Amino acid sequence: MSDPYEALLKKAYEQVTEPTESVGRFTVPEARTYIEGKTTVFENFCEIADTLRRDRDHFMKFLLGELGTAGKIDGNRAIFNGKFENTLINNLVKSYVDDYVICSECGKPDTRLVKDDRVLLLRCDACGGHRPVRKRKARTEPVTEELSEGAVMEVDIQSVSRRGDGVARIGRYIMYVKGGKPGQKVKIRITRISGSIAFTERV
Ligand SMILES: [Zn+2]
Repeated sequence: MSDPYEALLKKAYEQVTEPTESVGRFTVPEARTYIEGKTTVFENFCEIADTLRRDRDHFMKFLLGELGTAGKIDGNRAIFNGKFENTLINNLVKSYVDDYVICSECGKPDTRLVKDDRVLLLRCDACGGHRPVRKRKARTEPVTEELSEGAVMEVDIQSVSRRGDGVARIGRYIMYVKGGKPGQKVKIRITRISGSIAFTERV
């Protein structure tokens, strides 16, 4: 092991293997929430933002966007307008961690959000990797919802595709609705699902 190259390799190897061990040590506290009147109180909001080492306003903006509601940070708590289940809030915290905290290269949470030009990047202090953060669209549906072909449902048309079809988003799916106009609520049947794209017909 006197060969300097060998020593260097050994050191590099140690640096590569070390992060996987510490992944297990990173635990995100469970979100503690309760419903109070017409609002939902997220008691340990600041504790979680601080554990994730993320800007409270950024974390808040994400949650509000996903919940599709308004709210405010109040001391150490966050208060959302509307009643939301604890499971939903915990799922959103997990999504936030996946999108804005965990490095997709090494799986470590030792990351920072940096702006490069106008693109938001997740830069990893552990492995030096970086990636653009995934853009999400606001939605109110639980993140885990799975759609199936033949399902009939009411959807809100949010925008119009380049081809002129109405676009609705449900969970991770993008749905195309012929003739749908933004702001409309339409009843559709899912005719085909391809990946995260769902084709529909009006019913
Ligand atoms: Zn990394």
